[in-house]
Amino acid sequence: VFVAFEGGEGSGKTTQSRLLAIWLRDQGFDVVQTREPGSTKVGMRLRAILLDAVHQGLSARSEALLYAADRAEHVEKVILPALYRGAMVISDRYVDSSLAYQGAGRALEQDDVAKINAWATGGLVPELTVLIDTPPAIGLTRLGGAADRIESEPLEFHERVRREFRALAAADPGRYVVVDGTLPQEEISRLIQDRVREILPD
Ligand code: C5P
Ligand code: MG
Repeated sequence: VFVAFEGGEGSGKTTQSRLLAIWLRDQGFDVVQTREPGSTKVGMRLRAILLDAVHQGLSARSEALLYAADRAEHVEKVILPALYRGAMVISDRYVDSSLAYQGAGRALEQDDVAKINAWATGGLVPELTVLIDTPPAIGLTRLGGAADRIESEPLEFHERVRREFRALAAADPGRYVVVDGTLPQEEISRLIQDRVREILPD
């Protein structure tokens, strides 16, 4: 079973994916908790390129291709091997992040971003995507200065990203659970667990 977490900056994806992994391990599941970008050797170098302020102004197409390259490594080296051995995989970000940030955020053709990612991942789609939906003004405040993009992109960029995440979820409700990121942490965990319970193997 493959579960992806998506959402904007400071939405609590990292915290909630960790809490879900703990909850599943407590039930005896083999869980691989991973994230994008940067979960492979090459991915770590790509992450450094993508998130370093000195590379601000990277062309939108290069950015999309580097994220897709990171994802191709991630799928081939981490996600698929884990799924093949029967583990549950929880990823902090996946393809939807590219549709939201590179597609909607950086205004690339959505269809192109979808195509390069379908190719990069060999068409691997999560069984469930958890969207933690948080108004960017709140998420960015939570992170303070820690958000990688906080300096480089205006609030409007993050609003476009959020709208795209919500649109993706609305277009395929069976594959998403959308959780209000302004709820208390324990409540968010409980809502996620309720939905994940439905897809657990017995
Ligand atoms: O998930 P995390 O907050 O570590 O993401 C790191 C940064 O990468 C964020 O600032 C996010 O804006 C950016 N990002 C992106 N495009 C993606 C994935 C992440 O711009 N596809
Ligand atoms: Mg995070």
